[in-house]
Amino acid sequence: MSFKLIDLPYAPEALEPVISAETLGLHHGKHLQTYVNNLNNLLPGSGFEGLPVEEIVKKADGAIFNNAGQVLNHNMYFAQFQAPVDDNKPDAAIAKAIDANFGSFQAFKDEFSAKAAGLFGSGWLWLSADSEGKLVLTQESNAGNPLTRGLKPLLTIDVWEHAYYVDYRNRRPEYIANFWKIVNWKVIGERFEA
Ligand code: MN
Repeated sequence: MSFKLIDLPYAPEALEPVISAETLGLHHGKHLQTYVNNLNNLLPGSGFEGLPVEEIVKKADGAIFNNAGQVLNHNMYFAQFQAPVDDNKPDAAIAKAIDANFGSFQAFKDEFSAKAAGLFGSGWLWLSADSEGKLVLTQESNAGNPLTRGLKPLLTIDVWEHAYYVDYRNRRPEYIANFWKIVNWKVIGERFEA
């Protein structure tokens, strides 16, 4: 048994102009494919064969952790988008939880965006829920995932340069500002309520 590259749940140009088809082709078709291939090559004889990727991320270290983390992180990232929407915002339980934890949706976006912009080097900014349903933001470097902190990951932004450099060059804050237009809050709500 081996891991496979996930299919994108939208057309390659569907996220334009926020994320171009060129970026998606490289990011999904080349970067993620490489992490999938690396993980499959590392698993035989490792003791992690046959485990779900979430379990590998929780238990592994070194190269297996790095590649499993990047497979899980990218699977969650690519699955959480939709075509751009004006005034895009959450509803139902996740909207109430954001208001309760951050004061307002705008305050949440501001804090998430600032922490994503301020993450040094390559990594991911995550919104997660703890065991009591409290929402927390964590900066994770490289392949980090909040699962290793006992948190339930809900929403993430990839701030590795490969995620935005074709479209935004060095303008990471502009990528982050546009990111909010393509978040599929139905997916985030389902993760929260699962
Ligand atoms: Mn990436």
